Amino acid sequence: MNEDATMGKMLSCDKVMRQLWDYLDEELTPERMSAIAAHLSGCNRCFPQYDFERAFLRAVRSVREENPPPAQQRERVMAALRANGLP
Ligand SMILES: [Zn+2]
Repeated sequence: MNEDATMGKMLSCDKVMRQLWDYLDEELTPERMSAIAAHLSGCNRCFPQYDFERAFLRAVRSVREENPPPAQQRERVMAALRANGLP
């Protein structure tokens, strides 16, 4: 077992969930990033949440880059999420 996997097991799901957005924004230390990555890869509870938030963030970012009027942004985010197979 490597060190990252050990660190991942030490993190609680609550801690991972609280840092999920920072993780997705890559605002954590490299050690924390790899610890959370290790936890996510082995946790059936956190991974679906991570997967959803990652898809959501990607959809929001793609809409922001296109920079449509605000009224269209929500619709585009929802369309992008549906394209990812999310509700
Ligand atoms: Zn977890």
